[in-house]
Amino acid sequence: MTTQKPIKKIMIVGGGSAGWMAALIIAHSVKEKNIEVCVIESPTVGVIGVGEGSTPVLKKFFDNLGIQESEWMPECNATYKSGISFDGWSTKPGHERYFHPFVTMIDNLTLPVFINNVKARLNGEDVCALPDKFFLSSKLAESHLAPIAAHNFPFFTTYGYHFDAMLLGKFLHKKALQMGIRHISAHITDTRLDISGNIASVVIEGDDNLEADFFVDCSGFAALLIGKALKTPFVSYADHLLNDSAIAMPTEIGDAIPTQTVSTAMKYGWSWKIPLQNRYGNGYVYSSSFTTADQAEKELREKLGLLESDTQARHLKMKLGRVEKHWNKNCLAVGLSQGFLEPLEATALYLTQMTAAIFCLFLEKGDMSEQAQNVYNHEINHYFDGHRNYIIAHYKTNTRTDTDYWKANAANLHTIPDSLKHVFSTWMEGRDLGDEIRRQKIDTYYPVASWYALLAGMGVFPQVDKSASDTGQNKGEPLGDFIQRCALNFHDHRSFLSAQKMAT
Ligand SMILES: Cc1cc2nc3c(=O)[nH]c(=O)nc-3n(C[C@H](O)[C@H](O)[C@H](O)COP(=O)(O)OP(=O)(O)OC[C@H]3O[C@@H](n4cnc5c(N)ncnc54)[C@H](O)[C@@H]3O)c2cc1C
Repeated sequence: MTTQKPIKKIMIVGGGSAGWMAALIIAHSVKEKNIEVCVIESPTVGVIGVGEGSTPVLKKFFDNLGIQESEWMPECNATYKSGISFDGWSTKPGHERYFHPFVTMIDNLTLPVFINNVKARLNGEDVCALPDKFFLSSKLAESHLAPIAAHNFPFFTTYGYHFDAMLLGKFLHKKALQMGIRHISAHITDTRLDISGNIASVVIEGDDNLEADFFVDCSGFAALLIGKALKTPFVSYADHLLNDSAIAMPTEIGDAIPTQTVSTAMKYGWSWKIPLQNRYGNGYVYSSSFTTADQAEKELREKLGLLESDTQARHLKMKLGRVEKHWNKNCLAVGLSQGFLEPLEATALYLTQMTAAIFCLFLEKGDMSEQAQNVYNHEINHYFDGHRNYIIAHYKTNTRTDTDYWKANAANLHTIPDSLKHVFSTWMEGRDLGDEIRRQKIDTYYPVASWYALLAGMGVFPQVDKSASDTGQNKGEPLGDFIQRCALNFHDHRSFLSAQKMAT
Protein backbone atom coordinates (compact mmCIF):
# COMPACT_ATOMS: atom_id res chain seq x y z
CA MET A 1 0.00 0.00 0.00
CA THR A 2 1.67 3.21 -1.04
CA THR A 3 -0.55 5.45 1.08
CA GLN A 4 -0.09 5.74 4.82
CA LYS A 5 -3.78 6.63 5.33
CA PRO A 6 -4.92 4.99 8.58
CA ILE A 7 -7.12 1.97 8.05
CA LYS A 8 -10.60 2.45 9.44
CA LYS A 9 -12.54 0.11 7.19
CA ILE A 10 -11.58 -3.25 5.67
CA MET A 11 -13.84 -4.70 3.01
CA ILE A 12 -13.65 -8.40 2.23
CA VAL A 13 -14.99 -9.30 -1.19
CA GLY A 14 -16.37 -12.86 -1.24
CA GLY A 15 -18.20 -15.06 1.24
CA GLY A 16 -16.67 -18.48 0.54
CA SER A 17 -14.61 -20.33 3.15
CA ALA A 18 -11.68 -18.00 2.43
CA GLY A 19 -13.76 -14.84 2.83
CA TRP A 20 -15.26 -15.80 6.19
CA MET A 21 -12.01 -17.25 7.45
CA ALA A 22 -10.09 -14.10 6.52
CA ALA A 23 -12.84 -11.94 8.05
CA LEU A 24 -12.67 -13.81 11.36
CA ILE A 25 -8.87 -13.77 11.52
CA ILE A 26 -8.62 -10.08 10.66
CA ALA A 27 -11.52 -8.98 12.88
CA HIS A 28 -10.04 -10.93 15.79
CA SER A 29 -6.65 -9.38 15.21
CA VAL A 30 -7.92 -5.77 15.13
CA LYS A 31 -10.64 -6.10 17.75
CA GLU A 32 -9.01 -3.47 20.01
CA LYS A 33 -8.45 -1.06 17.12
CA ASN A 34 -11.83 0.32 16.13
CA ILE A 35 -11.55 -0.95 12.56
CA GLU A 36 -14.75 -1.93 10.77
CA VAL A 37 -14.65 -5.27 8.92
CA CYS A 38 -17.36 -6.14 6.41
CA VAL A 39 -17.89 -8.97 3.93
CA ILE A 40 -19.61 -8.38 0.61
CA GLU A 41 -20.92 -11.40 -1.22
CA SER A 42 -22.79 -11.80 -4.47
CA PRO A 43 -26.35 -13.17 -4.15
CA THR A 44 -25.99 -14.72 -7.61
CA VAL A 45 -22.44 -16.16 -7.72
CA GLY A 46 -22.20 -19.24 -5.52
CA VAL A 47 -19.22 -20.53 -3.57
CA ILE A 48 -17.07 -23.32 -5.02
CA GLY A 49 -18.35 -25.66 -2.30
CA VAL A 50 -15.58 -28.25 -2.43
CA GLY A 51 -12.51 -28.61 -0.23
CA GLU A 52 -13.28 -30.95 2.61
CA GLY A 53 -9.91 -31.90 4.07
CA SER A 54 -7.54 -29.90 6.26
CA THR A 55 -4.07 -29.99 7.74
CA PRO A 56 -3.56 -29.88 11.54
CA VAL A 57 -3.11 -26.10 11.45
CA LEU A 58 -6.88 -25.58 11.12
CA LYS A 59 -7.16 -26.47 14.80
CA LYS A 60 -5.19 -23.30 15.63
CA PHE A 61 -7.73 -21.21 13.73
CA PHE A 62 -10.59 -22.47 15.88
CA ASP A 63 -8.51 -22.42 19.08
CA ASN A 64 -7.49 -18.79 18.53
CA LEU A 65 -11.14 -17.80 18.15
CA GLY A 66 -12.15 -19.84 21.20
CA ILE A 67 -14.41 -22.12 19.14
CA GLN A 68 -14.65 -25.64 20.59
CA GLU A 69 -14.68 -28.77 18.43
CA SER A 70 -17.92 -29.76 20.15
CA GLU A 71 -19.47 -26.58 18.72
CA TRP A 72 -18.31 -26.57 15.11
CA MET A 73 -17.71 -30.24 14.26
CA PRO A 74 -21.29 -31.54 14.65
CA GLU A 75 -22.62 -28.56 12.66
CA CYS A 76 -20.25 -29.33 9.78
CA ASN A 77 -20.54 -33.15 9.88
CA ALA A 78 -16.83 -33.01 10.57
CA THR A 79 -14.55 -35.93 11.35
CA TYR A 80 -10.95 -36.27 12.49
CA LYS A 81 -8.09 -36.89 10.11
CA SER A 82 -4.81 -38.62 11.03
CA GLY A 83 -3.22 -38.38 7.60
CA ILE A 84 -3.51 -39.46 3.99
CA SER A 85 -3.22 -42.92 2.48
CA PHE A 86 -1.63 -42.93 -0.98
CA ASP A 87 -2.83 -45.96 -2.88
CA GLY A 88 -1.40 -47.10 -6.18
CA TRP A 89 1.04 -44.24 -6.67
CA SER A 90 4.07 -46.52 -6.62
CA THR A 91 4.44 -49.91 -8.23
CA LYS A 92 7.50 -50.82 -6.16
CA PRO A 93 6.87 -54.07 -4.28
CA GLY A 94 5.87 -53.33 -0.69
CA HIS A 95 5.14 -49.68 -1.54
CA GLU A 96 1.90 -50.04 -3.52
CA ARG A 97 0.26 -48.06 -0.74
CA TYR A 98 1.69 -45.97 2.05
CA PHE A 99 0.41 -43.67 4.73
CA HIS A 100 1.49 -40.06 5.14
CA PRO A 101 0.94 -39.47 8.86
CA PHE A 102 0.43 -36.28 10.78
CA VAL A 103 3.50 -36.56 12.94
CA THR A 104 2.52 -36.50 16.57
CA MET A 105 4.23 -36.01 19.98
CA ILE A 106 4.84 -39.68 20.72
CA ASP A 107 6.59 -40.00 17.35
CA ASN A 108 9.55 -38.23 18.94
CA LEU A 109 10.32 -41.74 20.16
CA THR A 110 9.63 -43.59 16.93
CA LEU A 111 10.86 -41.12 14.32
CA PRO A 112 14.58 -41.76 14.99
CA VAL A 113 13.99 -45.48 14.39
CA PHE A 114 12.25 -44.70 11.10
CA ILE A 115 15.02 -42.37 9.97
CA ASN A 116 17.68 -44.93 10.90
CA ASN A 117 15.91 -47.60 8.91
CA VAL A 118 15.50 -45.28 5.94
CA LYS A 119 19.20 -44.47 6.01
CA ALA A 120 20.02 -48.17 6.23
CA ARG A 121 17.69 -48.83 3.31
CA LEU A 122 19.38 -46.10 1.32
CA ASN A 123 22.61 -47.99 2.00
CA GLY A 124 21.07 -51.15 0.57
CA GLU A 125 20.23 -52.91 3.85
CA ASP A 126 17.14 -55.09 4.02
CA VAL A 127 15.11 -53.31 6.70
CA CYS A 128 11.54 -52.07 6.88
CA ALA A 129 11.25 -48.44 5.77
CA LEU A 130 7.52 -48.07 5.13
CA PRO A 131 6.24 -45.06 7.14
CA ASP A 132 3.04 -46.90 8.11
CA LYS A 133 4.98 -49.04 10.56
CA PHE A 134 6.52 -46.21 12.57
CA PHE A 135 3.83 -43.65 13.33
CA LEU A 136 0.95 -43.66 15.77
CA SER A 137 -1.31 -41.74 13.35
CA SER A 138 -1.00 -44.59 10.91
CA LYS A 139 -2.25 -47.08 13.50
CA LEU A 140 -5.13 -44.77 14.47
CA ALA A 141 -6.18 -44.43 10.83
CA GLU A 142 -5.93 -48.17 10.19
CA SER A 143 -8.08 -48.90 13.27
CA HIS A 144 -10.69 -46.12 12.83
CA LEU A 145 -9.71 -44.52 16.12
CA ALA A 146 -10.36 -40.85 16.93
CA PRO A 147 -6.99 -39.16 17.48
CA ILE A 148 -7.93 -37.82 20.92
CA ALA A 149 -6.33 -39.88 23.66
CA ALA A 150 -7.81 -40.90 26.98
CA HIS A 151 -6.67 -38.65 29.84
CA ASN A 152 -4.15 -41.19 31.15
CA PHE A 153 -2.10 -41.01 27.92
CA PRO A 154 -0.02 -37.87 28.48
CA PHE A 155 0.93 -37.14 24.88
CA PHE A 156 -0.74 -34.62 22.62
CA THR A 157 -1.89 -36.05 19.26
CA THR A 158 -1.70 -34.01 16.07
CA TYR A 159 -4.66 -34.22 13.72
CA GLY A 160 -6.57 -32.44 11.00
CA TYR A 161 -10.22 -32.56 10.00
CA HIS A 162 -12.63 -33.51 7.26
CA PHE A 163 -15.81 -31.41 6.95
CA ASP A 164 -18.69 -30.49 4.68
CA ALA A 165 -17.37 -27.42 2.83
CA MET A 166 -20.80 -25.79 2.44
CA LEU A 167 -21.64 -26.28 6.12
CA LEU A 168 -18.25 -24.96 7.20
CA GLY A 169 -18.89 -21.80 5.16
CA LYS A 170 -22.29 -21.35 6.83
CA PHE A 171 -20.81 -21.92 10.28
CA LEU A 172 -18.05 -19.36 9.73
CA HIS A 173 -20.62 -16.90 8.37
CA LYS A 174 -22.68 -17.30 11.55
CA LYS A 175 -19.65 -16.84 13.81
CA ALA A 176 -18.57 -13.78 11.87
CA LEU A 177 -21.96 -12.11 12.37
CA GLN A 178 -21.75 -12.94 16.08
CA MET A 179 -18.37 -11.20 16.16
CA GLY A 180 -19.89 -8.04 14.73
CA ILE A 181 -18.66 -8.43 11.15
CA ARG A 182 -21.08 -6.77 8.72
CA HIS A 183 -22.46 -8.77 5.80
CA ILE A 184 -23.53 -7.09 2.57
CA SER A 185 -25.31 -9.12 -0.08
CA ALA A 186 -24.54 -7.39 -3.38
CA HIS A 187 -23.06 -8.21 -6.76
CA ILE A 188 -19.94 -6.24 -7.68
CA THR A 189 -19.92 -4.99 -11.26
CA ASP A 190 -16.83 -2.80 -11.28
CA THR A 191 -13.90 -1.50 -9.25
CA ARG A 192 -12.67 2.12 -9.06
CA LEU A 193 -9.02 2.98 -8.58
CA ASP A 194 -7.70 6.25 -7.15
CA ILE A 195 -4.95 8.35 -8.67
CA SER A 196 -2.19 6.30 -7.08
CA GLY A 197 -3.64 3.03 -8.34
CA ASN A 198 -5.11 1.91 -5.01
CA ILE A 199 -8.63 0.55 -4.92
CA ALA A 200 -10.99 3.36 -3.94
CA SER A 201 -14.30 1.53 -4.09
CA VAL A 202 -16.26 -1.34 -5.56
CA VAL A 203 -19.33 -0.63 -7.63
CA ILE A 204 -22.37 -2.80 -6.97
CA GLU A 205 -25.48 -3.43 -9.06
CA GLY A 206 -27.61 -0.27 -8.98
CA ASP A 207 -24.39 1.76 -9.36
CA ASP A 208 -23.72 2.34 -5.68
CA ASN A 209 -20.08 2.84 -4.70
CA LEU A 210 -18.83 1.08 -1.60
CA GLU A 211 -15.61 2.57 -0.26
CA ALA A 212 -13.03 1.18 2.13
CA ASP A 213 -9.43 1.86 3.11
CA PHE A 214 -8.27 -1.69 2.55
CA PHE A 215 -9.74 -4.53 0.47
CA VAL A 216 -9.36 -8.28 0.78
CA ASP A 217 -10.05 -10.18 -2.43
CA CYS A 218 -11.73 -13.48 -1.60
CA SER A 219 -13.71 -13.64 -4.83
CA GLY A 220 -12.44 -17.10 -5.76
CA PHE A 221 -11.01 -17.92 -9.19
CA ALA A 222 -12.69 -14.70 -10.50
CA ALA A 223 -9.94 -12.68 -8.69
CA LEU A 224 -12.01 -9.52 -9.13
CA LEU A 225 -9.66 -7.14 -7.34
CA ILE A 226 -6.17 -8.64 -7.39
CA GLY A 227 -6.48 -9.85 -10.98
CA LYS A 228 -9.12 -7.92 -12.90
CA ALA A 229 -8.72 -4.51 -11.20
CA LEU A 230 -5.04 -4.43 -10.21
CA LYS A 231 -3.80 -6.70 -13.02
CA THR A 232 -1.34 -8.44 -10.71
CA PRO A 233 0.74 -10.87 -12.78
CA PHE A 234 -0.09 -14.56 -12.32
CA VAL A 235 2.63 -17.22 -12.10
CA SER A 236 1.23 -20.42 -13.59
CA TYR A 237 2.19 -23.83 -12.20
CA ALA A 238 0.86 -25.61 -15.29
CA ASP A 239 4.35 -26.63 -16.47
CA HIS A 240 4.95 -28.41 -13.19
CA LEU A 241 1.54 -29.81 -12.34
CA LEU A 242 -0.54 -31.29 -15.14
CA ASN A 243 -3.99 -31.56 -13.53
CA ASP A 244 -6.49 -28.84 -14.40
CA SER A 245 -9.92 -30.40 -13.81
CA ALA A 246 -11.89 -32.17 -11.11
CA ILE A 247 -15.13 -34.06 -10.58
CA ALA A 248 -16.88 -34.37 -7.21
CA MET A 249 -19.50 -36.96 -6.19
CA PRO A 250 -20.82 -38.10 -2.81
CA THR A 251 -21.36 -41.72 -1.72
CA GLU A 252 -22.89 -43.28 1.36
CA ILE A 253 -20.85 -44.08 4.44
CA GLY A 254 -21.32 -47.08 6.70
CA ASP A 255 -20.94 -47.37 10.48
CA ALA A 256 -17.17 -47.22 10.56
CA ILE A 257 -15.72 -43.77 9.92
CA PRO A 258 -12.07 -43.81 8.83
CA THR A 259 -9.71 -41.10 10.09
CA GLN A 260 -7.86 -40.73 6.83
CA THR A 261 -8.25 -39.30 3.37
CA VAL A 262 -7.56 -41.91 0.71
CA SER A 263 -5.84 -40.68 -2.44
CA THR A 264 -5.91 -43.36 -5.13
CA ALA A 265 -3.96 -43.11 -8.37
CA MET A 266 -6.33 -43.26 -11.36
CA LYS A 267 -5.52 -43.47 -15.07
CA TYR A 268 -5.17 -39.73 -15.60
CA GLY A 269 -4.89 -38.31 -12.08
CA TRP A 270 -6.01 -39.37 -8.64
CA SER A 271 -9.23 -39.72 -6.71
CA TRP A 272 -10.01 -38.56 -3.19
CA LYS A 273 -12.21 -40.27 -0.65
CA ILE A 274 -13.04 -38.15 2.38
CA PRO A 275 -15.14 -39.54 5.23
CA LEU A 276 -17.70 -37.22 6.84
CA GLN A 277 -20.21 -38.14 9.52
CA ASN A 278 -23.04 -38.60 7.01
CA ARG A 279 -21.36 -39.42 3.68
CA TYR A 280 -18.13 -39.79 1.77
CA GLY A 281 -16.96 -36.93 -0.39
CA ASN A 282 -15.27 -38.35 -3.49
CA GLY A 283 -13.62 -36.76 -6.43
CA TYR A 284 -11.25 -37.21 -9.32
CA VAL A 285 -8.53 -34.67 -10.07
CA TYR A 286 -7.29 -35.18 -13.62
CA SER A 287 -5.56 -33.64 -16.58
CA SER A 288 -7.81 -32.65 -19.49
CA SER A 289 -4.80 -33.02 -21.82
CA PHE A 290 -4.97 -36.77 -21.32
CA THR A 291 -8.67 -37.59 -20.96
CA THR A 292 -12.09 -36.01 -21.49
CA ALA A 293 -14.56 -34.96 -18.82
CA ASP A 294 -16.94 -37.76 -19.88
CA GLN A 295 -14.25 -40.44 -19.77
CA ALA A 296 -13.04 -39.20 -16.41
CA GLU A 297 -16.57 -39.24 -15.00
CA LYS A 298 -17.06 -42.79 -16.27
CA GLU A 299 -13.79 -43.89 -14.69
CA LEU A 300 -14.79 -42.34 -11.35
CA ARG A 301 -18.29 -43.81 -11.48
CA GLU A 302 -16.80 -47.24 -12.17
CA LYS A 303 -14.51 -46.92 -9.18
CA LEU A 304 -17.36 -45.82 -6.90
CA GLY A 305 -19.83 -48.40 -8.23
CA LEU A 306 -22.06 -45.57 -9.50
CA LEU A 307 -22.21 -46.42 -13.21
CA GLU A 308 -25.97 -46.98 -13.08
CA SER A 309 -26.63 -44.38 -10.39
CA ASP A 310 -28.31 -41.01 -10.99
CA THR A 311 -26.02 -39.33 -8.43
CA GLN A 312 -25.00 -36.01 -9.96
CA ALA A 313 -21.35 -35.35 -10.70
CA ARG A 314 -19.98 -31.81 -10.36
CA HIS A 315 -17.33 -30.85 -12.91
CA LEU A 316 -14.83 -28.13 -11.98
CA LYS A 317 -11.94 -26.41 -13.71
CA MET A 318 -8.84 -25.54 -11.70
CA LYS A 319 -6.33 -22.77 -12.36
CA LEU A 320 -3.00 -23.77 -10.80
CA GLY A 321 -0.51 -21.09 -9.84
CA ARG A 322 -0.27 -17.98 -7.73
CA VAL A 323 -0.27 -14.23 -8.08
CA GLU A 324 3.13 -12.54 -8.03
CA LYS A 325 2.02 -10.26 -5.18
CA HIS A 326 -0.59 -11.46 -2.71
CA TRP A 327 -0.55 -8.00 -1.13
CA ASN A 328 -0.66 -5.42 -3.90
CA LYS A 329 -1.45 -1.75 -3.25
CA ASN A 330 -4.29 -1.64 -0.70
CA CYS A 331 -5.49 -5.13 -1.54
CA LEU A 332 -4.73 -8.54 -0.07
CA ALA A 333 -5.73 -11.65 -2.02
CA VAL A 334 -6.78 -14.64 0.08
CA GLY A 335 -8.06 -18.04 -1.06
CA LEU A 336 -8.55 -19.11 -4.66
CA SER A 337 -8.10 -15.49 -5.84
CA GLN A 338 -4.44 -15.57 -4.74
CA GLY A 339 -3.74 -18.96 -6.26
CA PHE A 340 -4.30 -22.66 -6.00
CA LEU A 341 -2.32 -25.86 -5.88
CA GLU A 342 -4.16 -28.97 -6.67
CA PRO A 343 -5.77 -30.49 -3.56
CA LEU A 344 -3.47 -33.52 -3.16
CA GLU A 345 -2.31 -32.42 0.28
CA ALA A 346 -5.48 -30.45 1.15
CA THR A 347 -3.50 -27.30 1.84
CA ALA A 348 -5.70 -24.53 0.39
CA LEU A 349 -7.37 -23.55 3.66
CA TYR A 350 -4.01 -23.78 5.38
CA LEU A 351 -2.56 -21.29 2.89
CA THR A 352 -5.66 -19.12 3.34
CA GLN A 353 -5.18 -19.16 7.09
CA MET A 354 -1.45 -18.38 6.89
CA THR A 355 -1.98 -15.62 4.31
CA ALA A 356 -4.45 -13.84 6.59
CA ALA A 357 -2.63 -14.54 9.85
CA ILE A 358 0.79 -13.37 8.63
CA PHE A 359 -0.79 -10.24 7.14
CA CYS A 360 -2.29 -9.48 10.55
CA LEU A 361 1.21 -9.31 12.05
CA PHE A 362 1.85 -6.27 9.84
CA LEU A 363 -1.63 -4.86 10.38
CA GLU A 364 -1.26 -5.06 14.15
CA LYS A 365 2.03 -3.16 13.95
CA GLY A 366 0.46 -0.63 11.61
CA ASP A 367 3.24 -1.33 9.10
CA MET A 368 1.69 -0.95 5.68
CA SER A 369 4.95 0.16 4.06
CA GLU A 370 6.25 -1.01 0.69
CA GLN A 371 9.06 -2.80 2.49
CA ALA A 372 6.51 -4.70 4.60
CA GLN A 373 4.69 -5.69 1.42
CA ASN A 374 7.88 -7.00 -0.16
CA VAL A 375 8.82 -9.04 2.90
CA TYR A 376 5.29 -10.38 3.11
CA ASN A 377 4.98 -11.30 -0.56
CA HIS A 378 8.34 -13.02 -0.52
CA GLU A 379 7.24 -15.14 2.43
CA ILE A 380 3.83 -16.11 1.01
CA ASN A 381 5.41 -16.94 -2.36
CA HIS A 382 7.84 -19.18 -0.53
CA TYR A 383 4.89 -20.97 1.11
CA PHE A 384 3.17 -21.49 -2.23
CA ASP A 385 6.26 -22.61 -4.14
CA GLY A 386 7.35 -24.89 -1.30
CA HIS A 387 3.94 -26.58 -1.26
CA ARG A 388 4.03 -26.88 -5.04
CA ASN A 389 7.40 -28.64 -4.83
CA TYR A 390 6.13 -31.12 -2.27
CA ILE A 391 3.21 -31.98 -4.54
CA ILE A 392 5.44 -32.29 -7.62
CA ALA A 393 7.54 -34.79 -5.64
CA HIS A 394 4.56 -37.21 -5.54
CA TYR A 395 4.21 -37.14 -9.31
CA LYS A 396 7.88 -37.23 -10.11
CA THR A 397 8.49 -40.30 -7.94
CA ASN A 398 5.52 -42.30 -9.28
CA THR A 399 6.55 -45.51 -11.04
CA ARG A 400 3.34 -46.23 -12.97
CA THR A 401 3.67 -46.90 -16.66
CA ASP A 402 0.04 -47.76 -17.48
CA THR A 403 -0.80 -44.44 -19.18
CA ASP A 404 1.03 -41.60 -20.91
CA TYR A 405 -0.19 -39.36 -18.11
CA TRP A 406 1.90 -41.14 -15.46
CA LYS A 407 4.88 -41.47 -17.78
CA ALA A 408 4.73 -37.73 -18.50
CA ASN A 409 4.63 -36.99 -14.78
CA ALA A 410 7.66 -39.15 -14.06
CA ALA A 411 9.59 -37.76 -17.03
CA ASN A 412 9.17 -34.04 -16.39
CA LEU A 413 12.64 -33.54 -14.92
CA HIS A 414 13.33 -30.46 -17.02
CA THR A 415 10.54 -28.56 -15.31
CA ILE A 416 11.46 -29.56 -11.79
CA PRO A 417 12.46 -26.56 -9.67
CA ASP A 418 16.11 -26.53 -8.55
CA SER A 419 15.16 -26.64 -4.87
CA LEU A 420 13.38 -29.96 -5.42
CA LYS A 421 16.27 -31.32 -7.49
CA HIS A 422 18.52 -30.63 -4.48
CA VAL A 423 16.13 -32.55 -2.23
CA PHE A 424 16.16 -35.55 -4.59
CA SER A 425 19.94 -35.57 -5.01
CA THR A 426 20.48 -35.23 -1.26
CA TRP A 427 18.21 -38.21 -0.72
CA MET A 428 19.68 -40.44 -3.42
CA GLU A 429 23.25 -39.68 -2.37
CA GLY A 430 22.38 -40.58 1.23
CA ARG A 431 23.29 -37.13 2.61
CA ASP A 432 21.36 -35.59 5.50
CA LEU A 433 17.94 -34.61 4.15
CA GLY A 434 17.15 -32.71 7.36
CA ASP A 435 20.07 -30.35 6.70
CA GLU A 436 18.88 -29.71 3.15
CA ILE A 437 15.25 -29.10 4.18
CA ARG A 438 16.37 -26.67 6.87
CA ARG A 439 18.84 -24.97 4.51
CA GLN A 440 15.98 -24.30 2.11
CA LYS A 441 13.76 -23.16 5.03
CA ILE A 442 10.96 -25.45 3.92
CA ASP A 443 10.69 -27.37 7.18
CA THR A 444 8.09 -24.93 8.60
CA TYR A 445 5.33 -26.42 6.49
CA TYR A 446 6.67 -29.82 5.46
CA PRO A 447 8.91 -31.05 8.25
CA VAL A 448 11.70 -33.51 7.63
CA ALA A 449 9.45 -36.39 8.71
CA SER A 450 6.99 -35.57 5.92
CA TRP A 451 9.74 -35.71 3.28
CA TYR A 452 10.97 -38.99 4.69
CA ALA A 453 7.42 -40.36 4.69
CA LEU A 454 6.87 -39.34 1.06
CA LEU A 455 10.15 -40.57 -0.39
CA ALA A 456 10.36 -43.75 1.68
CA GLY A 457 6.63 -44.36 1.20
CA MET A 458 7.00 -44.24 -2.57
CA GLY A 459 9.97 -46.62 -2.27
CA VAL A 460 12.54 -44.20 -3.65
CA PHE A 461 15.63 -46.22 -2.81
CA PRO A 462 18.70 -46.78 -4.95
CA GLN A 463 19.44 -50.35 -5.96
CA VAL A 464 22.89 -50.44 -4.38
CA ASP A 465 22.84 -53.93 -2.96
CA LYS A 466 21.42 -56.87 -4.83
CA SER A 467 20.74 -58.67 -1.56
CA ALA A 468 18.40 -55.93 -0.37
CA SER A 469 14.80 -57.01 -0.58
CA ASP A 470 12.50 -54.61 -2.41
CA THR A 471 9.87 -55.13 0.21
CA GLY A 472 12.27 -54.34 3.03
CA GLN A 473 10.03 -56.26 5.39
CA ASN A 474 12.46 -58.91 6.55
CA LYS A 475 13.35 -57.32 9.82
CA GLY A 476 9.67 -57.15 10.79
CA GLU A 477 7.98 -54.25 12.52
CA PRO A 478 10.33 -53.08 15.24
CA LEU A 479 7.75 -50.75 16.80
CA GLY A 480 4.61 -52.83 16.28
CA ASP A 481 4.03 -53.64 19.94
CA PHE A 482 4.83 -50.14 21.18
CA ILE A 483 2.45 -48.47 18.73
CA GLN A 484 -0.20 -51.10 19.30
CA ARG A 485 -0.13 -50.40 23.04
CA CYS A 486 -0.24 -46.62 22.52
CA ALA A 487 -3.32 -47.11 20.35
CA LEU A 488 -5.16 -48.76 23.24
CA ASN A 489 -5.65 -45.25 24.66
CA PHE A 490 -7.91 -44.12 21.80
CA HIS A 491 -11.62 -44.59 21.14
CA ASP A 492 -13.64 -45.68 18.16
CA HIS A 493 -14.09 -42.70 15.84
CA ARG A 494 -17.85 -43.00 15.23
CA SER A 495 -18.57 -43.46 18.97
CA PHE A 496 -16.35 -40.51 19.84
CA LEU A 497 -18.17 -38.25 17.37
CA SER A 498 -21.58 -39.43 18.60
CA ALA A 499 -20.57 -38.64 22.20
CA GLN A 500 -19.34 -35.22 21.06
CA LYS A 501 -22.70 -34.54 19.40
CA MET A 502 -24.63 -35.68 22.50
CA ALA A 503 -22.55 -33.34 24.67
CA THR A 504 -23.64 -30.21 22.77
C1 LIG B 1 -11.43 -29.94 -6.67
C2 LIG B 1 -11.05 -29.12 -5.48
C3 LIG B 1 -10.77 -29.77 -4.27
C4 LIG B 1 -10.37 -29.02 -3.17
N1 LIG B 1 -10.05 -29.67 -2.01
C5 LIG B 1 -9.59 -28.96 -0.95
C6 LIG B 1 -9.24 -29.59 0.28
O1 LIG B 1 -9.34 -30.80 0.43
N2 LIG B 1 -8.79 -28.81 1.28
C7 LIG B 1 -8.67 -27.45 1.18
O2 LIG B 1 -8.23 -26.80 2.12
N3 LIG B 1 -9.06 -26.84 0.04
C8 LIG B 1 -9.49 -27.53 -1.01
N4 LIG B 1 -9.87 -26.89 -2.15
C9 LIG B 1 -9.84 -25.42 -2.18
C10 LIG B 1 -11.08 -24.87 -1.47
O3 LIG B 1 -12.24 -25.30 -2.13
C11 LIG B 1 -11.04 -23.34 -1.45
O4 LIG B 1 -9.78 -22.91 -1.02
C12 LIG B 1 -12.07 -22.79 -0.51
O5 LIG B 1 -13.33 -23.29 -0.78
C13 LIG B 1 -12.10 -21.29 -0.54
O6 LIG B 1 -12.64 -20.82 -1.75
P1 LIG B 1 -12.81 -19.25 -1.91
O7 LIG B 1 -13.55 -18.73 -0.73
O8 LIG B 1 -11.49 -18.66 -2.21
O9 LIG B 1 -13.68 -19.10 -3.23
P2 LIG B 1 -15.27 -19.38 -3.49
O10 LIG B 1 -15.81 -20.46 -2.62
O11 LIG B 1 -15.39 -19.56 -4.97
O12 LIG B 1 -15.96 -18.02 -3.06
C14 LIG B 1 -15.97 -16.89 -3.90
C15 LIG B 1 -16.88 -15.83 -3.29
O13 LIG B 1 -16.76 -14.65 -4.07
C16 LIG B 1 -18.04 -14.12 -4.31
N5 LIG B 1 -18.04 -13.39 -5.58
C17 LIG B 1 -17.60 -13.80 -6.79
N6 LIG B 1 -17.87 -12.86 -7.73
C18 LIG B 1 -18.48 -11.83 -7.09
C19 LIG B 1 -19.01 -10.57 -7.49
N7 LIG B 1 -18.97 -10.16 -8.78
N8 LIG B 1 -19.57 -9.77 -6.56
C20 LIG B 1 -19.61 -10.15 -5.26
N9 LIG B 1 -19.12 -11.32 -4.80
C21 LIG B 1 -18.58 -12.16 -5.72
C22 LIG B 1 -18.96 -15.33 -4.39
O14 LIG B 1 -20.30 -14.96 -4.13
C23 LIG B 1 -18.36 -16.21 -3.28
O15 LIG B 1 -18.94 -15.84 -2.06
C24 LIG B 1 -10.28 -27.61 -3.27
C25 LIG B 1 -10.59 -26.97 -4.46
C26 LIG B 1 -10.95 -27.72 -5.57
C27 LIG B 1 -11.25 -27.01 -6.85
